[in-house]
Amino acid sequence: MDVLIPADAIQERVRNLAEEIRESFPPGAPITVIGVLTGSIIFLTDLIRQLNLPLRIGLIQASSYRGQATVPGKLYIHDEMLPDVRGRHLLLLDDILDTGQTLTRVVDHLRECGAVSVRTCVLLRKIGRQSVPFEPDFCGFPIPDKFVVGYGLDFNDDYRHLPFIGILPDDTNV
Ligand code: 5GP
Ligand code: MG
Repeated sequence: MDVLIPADAIQERVRNLAEEIRESFPPGAPITVIGVLTGSIIFLTDLIRQLNLPLRIGLIQASSYRGQATVPGKLYIHDEMLPDVRGRHLLLLDDILDTGQTLTRVVDHLRECGAVSVRTCVLLRKIGRQSVPFEPDFCGFPIPDKFVVGYGLDFNDDYRHLPFIGILPDDTNV
C-alpha cells in the first residue's frame, strides 16, 4: 500500500494542532471533546493527550459508508453515547472531511442538544470533494481525492490500526 502520510508526520501535526486548539479556548471553559465513531478514535486518543486541558469525552456515531462501499450512502446519526452537552464548549473531531455532509449534520445536532459552542477539527480534508459549504476550524492535512485508510480510517472495517495514512489500492477486494 502506498503511504500518503507517514506515522511520524501525523504525530508531529497532532502536536501542533493540539497547541492551536488549546489557544482557541477561553481559559477555564468547560470543554467536551466529541469523537465521531468509529474513524476518529485513534485521532481522539492521541490529540487529547497533547491538549493539556481539563476535558470530558463524548462519542457520537455517524456513518455513511456501509461495508465495502467506497461511495457514501444514507447518513445515520446515533447519540446514545453522548453525554449532556448543555452549557459546554465542544470540540468535534472527525477523521476526514469529504463532502461535508456528516459534519454539517452532526454540528446541527449538537447545537440542538444545547452546546454553547461547537468547534470542529478534522485530521484530513479531501480537496475538491465538498458538496455543502462547511469550514472546519482546524484541519490536519489537505489530501487528494483518493480513498485512504489507516489511523482510524477503514475499508470494510479493516486497516484502522495502521499507524500511517495509506492509499487503498484500486484493486482491493476483501
Ligand atoms: P462526508 O460526510 O464529509 O462526505 O464524509 C465523511 C465520512 O466519510 C468520514 O467520517 C469517513 O468515515 C468517510 N470517508 C470519506 N472519505 C473517506 C476515505 O477516503 N476513506 C475512508 N476510510 N473513509 C472516508
Ligand atoms: Mg466517519
